[in-house]
Amino acid sequence: MPPTAAALPNIKISPRGTARLKAGHVWVYKSDVDAPDSIAPGSLVTVKDQRGKALGTALYSSSSQIAIRMLSREPVADFPALLRQRISDAIAYREKLVRDTDAYRIIFSEADLIPGLIVDRYNDILSLQILTQAMDANAVRETVMSSLAEQLHPASIVERVDPRVRELESLPPRASGLVQGEKTATTFTMNSVHFRYDALEGQKTGAFLDQRENYAAAAAYAHGEALDVFCYQGGFALHLAPACRQVTGVDSSRPALEIADQNAALNGREIEWIEANAFDLLKDYAAANRRYDTVVLDPPAFAKTKRDLDSAMRGYKELNLRALKMLRPGGLLVTCSCSYHVSQASFLEMLAGAAVDARRTVRVLEIRGQAKDHPVLLNVPETAYLKCVIAHVS
Ligand code: SAH
Repeated sequence: MPPTAAALPNIKISPRGTARLKAGHVWVYKSDVDAPDSIAPGSLVTVKDQRGKALGTALYSSSSQIAIRMLSREPVADFPALLRQRISDAIAYREKLVRDTDAYRIIFSEADLIPGLIVDRYNDILSLQILTQAMDANAVRETVMSSLAEQLHPASIVERVDPRVRELESLPPRASGLVQGEKTATTFTMNSVHFRYDALEGQKTGAFLDQRENYAAAAAYAHGEALDVFCYQGGFALHLAPACRQVTGVDSSRPALEIADQNAALNGREIEWIEANAFDLLKDYAAANRRYDTVVLDPPAFAKTKRDLDSAMRGYKELNLRALKMLRPGGLLVTCSCSYHVSQASFLEMLAGAAVDARRTVRVLEIRGQAKDHPVLLNVPETAYLKCVIAHVS
């Protein structure tokens, strides 16, 4: 018999937590939660306000700063059934909205109302990440795996483990690896560009699927000589190649560049890959008066926390200033930030400052975000993190 909603443990939250939920957010922090020790880590719970009024059903974490992740404003009588329904809704959402790719995010945690679960598809391999105690429970894992297998028929499912996440959730260590099937490597195709995917080797990051639509957008304006800074496995560089006379990709990671080179071969492209620290390389190129027609900047998240914000903004400014100076008149700048803590407004402000300092006129062609398979929940600002500005520079 499935547990009934009435049988769920209750958790009382503070007026501040209640206000957060009333504003449409789905998280309540530990400091706003009054949870008896008797509640097992990862439990399904009924959330109540100070007066005892039920606000909905949530997943509870005993150790994370985010103690409560809402699942529903209603009672949930059958969690596995709800999970199966949400998974098929997430798949249907992509079927409607995702085009020109066999690699995309199938489940994006809160944005798909399945907090704590991320699933990416790379052609016939699924890559899964579990981020919370509730999602790590064996019964929940089994429901997730069997739903994915039934609905998508992948050759295999691989779990990618972030040890830091498991530590924060007080979960026992676990190795990354196959959880279903045997296949660990494949190729996938987005926007007609082919990529290698090896689930167990390299940085285990897979690809940056969130940039998929930005690759195509950037390629539509790219021309001449192009420099892809922070190129990783060549996502932008490979998309720019058909439109550009020459493409150079720069990254500090040799393993990433080795895969980038294999990707270039897979697409019959000649791209120059340079292993370097981007800051040093841009400084040297500026001193040498190197010029480009297209520059892409897609650095890692400089601001991992709010405290890093000032130094992060200085980092973005330095990169963008150098890129702007390096562009020939009529050039194209594609500049990104994947730090949630850097708002779109402050990113544009930084870019405006860099334009003034570089004495360049910058016309904004497109202000973009993450691809549609990484949905943004309007009331949960944390789900929107990627900024991508495409600009004409004269
Ligand atoms: N543009 C890529 C994603 C970039 S992710 C794509 O679309 O696939 C950020 C990359 O920056 C990583 O590959 C990382 O190896 C690289 N990186 C981090 N610090 C760096 C530095 N100081 N100089 C050069 N590359 C760096």
